[in-house]
Parts: sequence; structure tokens; C-alpha cells
Amino acid sequence: MTTITNHMPTAELQALDAAHHMHPFTAGAELAAKGARIITRAKGVWLTDSEGNRIIDGMAGLWCVNIGYGRKELADVAARQIEELSYYNTFFQTSHVPAIALAAKIAELAPGDLNHVFFAGSGSEANDTNIRLVRRYWEIKGQPEKRVIIARKNGYHGSTLGGGSLGGMSGIHKNGGMLAGIVHIDEPNWWDQGGDATPEAFGLARAQQLEQKILEMGVENIAAFIGEPVQGAGGVIIPPSTYWPEIQRICDKYGILLIADEVITGFGRTGNWFGSETFGIRPHIMTIAKGLSSGYMPIGGSIVCDEIANVIGGAGDFNHGYTYSGHPVAAAVALENLRIMQEEKVVEHVRDVANPYLAKKWAALTDHPLVGEAKLVGLMGSIALTPNKATRARFAGDQGRVGYACRERCFANNLVMRHVGDRMIIAPPLVITPDEIDVLIERAWKSLDECLAGLKAEGTQ
Ligand code: PMP
Repeated sequence: MTTITNHMPTAELQALDAAHHMHPFTAGAELAAKGARIITRAKGVWLTDSEGNRIIDGMAGLWCVNIGYGRKELADVAARQIEELSYYNTFFQTSHVPAIALAAKIAELAPGDLNHVFFAGSGSEANDTNIRLVRRYWEIKGQPEKRVIIARKNGYHGSTLGGGSLGGMSGIHKNGGMLAGIVHIDEPNWWDQGGDATPEAFGLARAQQLEQKILEMGVENIAAFIGEPVQGAGGVIIPPSTYWPEIQRICDKYGILLIADEVITGFGRTGNWFGSETFGIRPHIMTIAKGLSSGYMPIGGSIVCDEIANVIGGAGDFNHGYTYSGHPVAAAVALENLRIMQEEKVVEHVRDVANPYLAKKWAALTDHPLVGEAKLVGLMGSIALTPNKATRARFAGDQGRVGYACRERCFANNLVMRHVGDRMIIAPPLVITPDEIDVLIERAWKSLDECLAGLKAEGTQ
């Protein structure tokens, strides 16, 4: 077989990809017929594909490349760590410096008494850890019946059986089944589901579903509530201001554990180190991944409060762990990523420069005939496409058809924006500059115009 390289013709790479590579969350046959876009290199916020196009990455990969692509410091640290200690585990009463240093750094950055880290290889694995942590905690406390975890419809917590069950995506639930003891309440998605209520009243009502669910199932059976501070994969649904304070009040009142899934919102995305700080949430456990290493290495984890860590640590073996928990190369790279973020004041850049600059331009997208609302927190945003802004109407036909068409126009215009149904979403690298934001917005407008022209041509708008 010939060596496969970046320099091969695109069609040959696509054919090999179609023949041998199964893609996540993808219709395989459809992609095989169309051919995948092949990304060959990246620097900063810019991707290059096999045809030589320069694409602005409005999604930071999968919401993860917080410091931007291609930082040599991270390559150097990885190379050094591989030479020094390429692998060792953290089972059997052993440890190593990268895991120790990273855990200590995370404890320093995390709010409150979130001082302990259980490492995983991904966000999904970390959420599987969380299921065990909360159930084990209550078991040790003498309340083993407290096993139910309440989550939200249209939440996303990963794609392992545990993570997929915590998530509220029916397509994932159908695909292989559900773990027992996980139930879902409605999401705080005002645009789609708020009806005539004000966003504030709606946010409160949606949070109060948590209390109703606790009472319905009996607090003696409830272990925890899990939510993303901002639903990411669900469409960047920024909850009304009333939502999280009410969730917090209910968790406090009934003494149930609160898990904030910060896989996307952690490490600067919302303009603070953690989304919990932005929304005033005081979780017992945080799920982290993605921005922890800026996606340079697969690593995730659970940040655990003193009480849970002490209870679990004091009760014999915690029977759980992964070969790559605290992998030394991943941990060293993550540590270097956090060093750069602190030294270059990346979180401050989001808060003081990039968010204020983008916020004005993002809000102005509502001047476009297709855009009903534009929401942004830090550097994660969404726009709702609609045929009628006043009534927040949906397009006729399949949900997501127009969003998909818009994403296709973005792709053609060398902008990565994702669609979730008929919402378009962005989460660019946190280091994006005002000039690059201008390019992103200009390409977004062009894509929206072309999408509208397409709808007019087919007579649906
Ligand atoms: N939780 C959230 C909030 C996520 O957004 C994701 C990934 N998009 C995950 C968990 C799962 O992370 P991973 O894909 O690393 O398993």
C-alpha cells in the first residue's frame, strides 16, 4: 500500500476515508457519496484543507481548541514528556509529577472547595465517573437507595452509555438503550418552548420542574442533578437569568448533589475560568475536558468537592478508573496549556476584548431577515433562524433543513459554523482577535444571505 500523506489528491483520500473510516455522528453512506472535507493543517483560528482553502474555525474544533491551533510550546512539552516518562498509571498506589501538578493546578483554578481531581480520557468518561461518584457517596452515607440522577432533555453529557443516558438526546437513547435510574426534565429553551411567558417566568418554571421531579420520585431516591451551565451541543441555549439561581435553591433545599458539566463552559469559554462562576452555580462536582488541554491531548476529569472526596476516600477502594487516568503526556500538555492561558491572560481577553467586540456584531445579526434572536455569553453564541421573528415560527418541513442549508453555505464560504436544528452556533478559539471576528461575521452574513436567496428561489421564504 502506498504511504498516505497530506499531498495525496483529495479524491483519493476521500475514497480511502469512505472505505475504512467510520465517522462519529455521521450517516456513513451519505458521507461516502459526498466525500469528507479533509483538514490538513491549522494555526491560530485558521484551518487549511486538502484543496488549500483557508477556513476560519468558528467552532474551535469541537469547542475545544481554546488557545488556538499549532502552539509549539505544547509540542515541545509533549516531546519532552514522552522522552522522560511516556506512560505510567495512577493505580496501585503510584503517582507521577504531571498528574500531581495538573491536579494541583486545577484545584487552584476551580472555585470553592473543589479541590480534588479524578482524571479521565474524555468528557464522556468523566461523566461516567460522576455516576459512580454520586451513587457511591450516598451508599457510604447509608442511603444506598439514593441513585436517581435528574438531567435535562436536550442536554449533552457525552456518548458512552453513561454519558449518553445523562444526556437528553433521544437519538442517542434509542441507539443502544439507556442506563436505569436517570430521568430528564425539560430544558430552559425559551425561544423554542417559552410560548407567551417572559423569559424570566419561563426560566423559573423550567427550574421548578426539578422540585416537582424530586417530590414525585421522593427525595430519598435522588442522588444528584446534572446540567451544563449553557447547553452546548443542544444549540447554545443560554438559560434565562432566573434559571440557575432557582436550580441552586432547590438543590440546597433538598440536599441533592449538583454536578455542573463544564466540558464546554470550563477554561474560559464564558469569560470566567468556569461557567459556574458566570452563572452563580456552586456545584459539588464539575465535569471537565476539551479546553483543559485545548484539545491537544485527550484528557478530561471530575473536579470533586472536599466532602465527596473525603467520604469516598475514607471508605476503602473506589472501584473505578481508566488506563489513561492522568496520562503523563496528556497531563503535561494540559498543564502547559493552562500556563499559557494564565500567562497570556486568555480569560481576560475573552471577557474584556473578544466578547465585547463580538457581542455588538452578533446582536446586529438580528437585522438579517432570517435571524430571530442572537445570544452570546463569552465566546459561545447562537442565532435562531426563523421565517417569522414576531411569532418565533418554525420553518415548514423538517426541523434543521434550513440550518443544514445555512451550514453548507458557511462551509462553502470557508467558515465553520455548526447547526443544531435551525439554530446556528459558534464557539471560536478564545484567542480570536477583533480582525478575525470581522472575517467571521462577514462570512456569516454572506452565508445567511445566500441561504435566504436559496429559500426564495425554492419559494419557501
Ligand atoms: N459534556 C459536554 C457538555 C460536552 O459538550 C461533551 C462533548 N461535546 C461531553 C460531555 C463529552 O465529551 P467527550 O466527547 O470528550 O467524551
